[in-house]
Amino acid sequence: MSEIEKKIKLAVNGGIGFGSKLNAKQLVFLAEYLGDQELELTTFQQLYIEAAENDVEFITKKFNEVGLSVYPVGNYVKSLRHCNFCKGEEQEGMPVAKEINRRIAGKPVPFTLRPAYAGCPIGCGEPLVNDIGVLKVKNGFDLYIGGNPKGAEARVGKLVKAQLQPDELYSLIDKILVVYIKHGKKRESFFKFLNRYGFDTLPEQVLITERL
Ligand code: SF4
Repeated sequence: MSEIEKKIKLAVNGGIGFGSKLNAKQLVFLAEYLGDQELELTTFQQLYIEAAENDVEFITKKFNEVGLSVYPVGNYVKSLRHCNFCKGEEQEGMPVAKEINRRIAGKPVPFTLRPAYAGCPIGCGEPLVNDIGVLKVKNGFDLYIGGNPKGAEARVGKLVKAQLQPDELYSLIDKILVVYIKHGKKRESFFKFLNRYGFDTLPEQVLITERL
């Protein structure tokens, strides 16, 4: 008797760029891949598709060939939600957004974690209401944690540190994730983790280790 192949969800998008755009080649590729499948559009600039678990590596390679990025779905860091970089790539820090995404998207964490980025204080990528938020202000990057966009518990994130330079920013984000991965309970959201662990404790802890 043949085994039924296990299907899993994958998240797909066009990577970090000007807007969340897909070109005709990518759309045709997606349509051919989908066949009778439906495509689910999420609020986090991702498209969900289904794939046989054993084929994930092959599918990821094929999607990458047409410029589509593929991420795991579930208890992982999601791909970076971002603004449209309307004022230009360098001015709005697109290389920094790409590097943040490269470093953290797809990392296993206790519960799905949503990072977001905006290239100027107007904040179109909504970084202040996501788990980890980066806002470019003048020549630096302000790092926020613990925002929550949902329900009666909605709140704005707390500023960890303003006017960071890229290397300091990457290092702090890495350290925050290490603490969450180490101390977060299974399926405990980052928002709930911060309530339990200490909304002030975590920033203090990572900033102290940064100074050592
Ligand atoms: S946050 Fe600023 S740079 Fe980004 S899309 Fe909005 S206005 Fe443009």
